[in-house]
Amino acid sequence: NISANLPQIRQLDEAAANRIAAGEVVERPCSAVKELVENAIDAQATRIEIAYADGGKTLIRVTDDGHGIAQDQLPLALSRHATSKIDGSDLLNIHTFGFRGEALPSMGAVGRLTITSRALGAESAAQIAVNGGDIEPVRPAALAKGTIVELRDLFHATPARLKFLRTDRSESQAIGDVVKRLAMAEPHIGFILRDVSGGGEGRIVFRADPCNGDLFEALHARLRTILGKEFAENSILVDAEREGMTLTGYASLPTYSRGAAVAQYLFINGRPVKDKVLIGALRAAYSDFLSRDRYPAVALFIECDPERVDVNVHPAKAEVRFREPGVARGLLVSGLRYALAGAGHRASSTVAD
Ligand code: ADP
Ligand code: MG
Repeated sequence: NISANLPQIRQLDEAAANRIAAGEVVERPCSAVKELVENAIDAQATRIEIAYADGGKTLIRVTDDGHGIAQDQLPLALSRHATSKIDGSDLLNIHTFGFRGEALPSMGAVGRLTITSRALGAESAAQIAVNGGDIEPVRPAALAKGTIVELRDLFHATPARLKFLRTDRSESQAIGDVVKRLAMAEPHIGFILRDVSGGGEGRIVFRADPCNGDLFEALHARLRTILGKEFAENSILVDAEREGMTLTGYASLPTYSRGAAVAQYLFINGRPVKDKVLIGALRAAYSDFLSRDRYPAVALFIECDPERVDVNVHPAKAEVRFREPGVARGLLVSGLRYALAGAGHRASSTVAD
């Protein structure tokens, strides 16, 4: 009987499929933090608190005051490819951070996940828990508003992945970076990041109160909190447009450059991105003002019709693909050059750090 020796094709069960997807969506504690904070932003939160212990390996907890999840929807939030954010008919027209419906089920597959939520207008809160893929029944809970998502013991079920995590210190550092990046893009939202490794209230690692005023004022205040007073006082407003694509933000004067590309924050439609086209454009824009071994500090936001940029390239969504890379590049180069020339800095100039 030949067929007895042939490989059998079998459908993976949901838990196994989730564990595999989790490998892409949740690589490290900071990727879970990113997904959870993005969910809170999507839920229109005005204050978001993030707590973690042991570099996020034993605990990540994100608390928001957003619109919450209706009790009868809690099991759906944990099921794969279930999302309230798109209907699947228009994958190019995405306005929210989330859209895959994969983050929560993935986390539930590789850790102990509890969601407590009170939907706007609901009389009470409810809680659902999932442990290693097993979903427990919804039960009543106490919460005044919003959502608390708690992820404990990430990767406890997959020791092989646990081994690949770095020290608590570097995982904590990565969590801090992720939160700061997201906080830059949302200056009207208040953020608090706590390390609760020792238990209790823990230690505040980062705090950014909600910034008031119009977007530029709020952004400037937020950048002062995150990038420092020196940056705030030595940067100029950039505000440009090209073929319907806009560029806004702050960029350092050549007098405030750095020895490495450590403070270059770029966003597309509010999403932090790392993109070669944009980094190259940044370098080109400053080439008349800075020597090759100096790097500007920038926090720049490109906005365009979501159809002009494909964010569906990578699950962690740090990569994007422009339909017209030339327009994005041109916008950055000309917008920055114009702003810098206006500030009267024509020659390459001096130093910071
Ligand atoms: P996605 O964000 O891609 O939709 P997720 O797995 O991250 O997928 O979340 C699934 C769904 O759960 C979301 O579409 C949203 O409806 C709901 N949800 C998740 N987190 C929150 C939150 N903090 N507040 C309100 N709703 C949430
Ligand atoms: Mg999400």
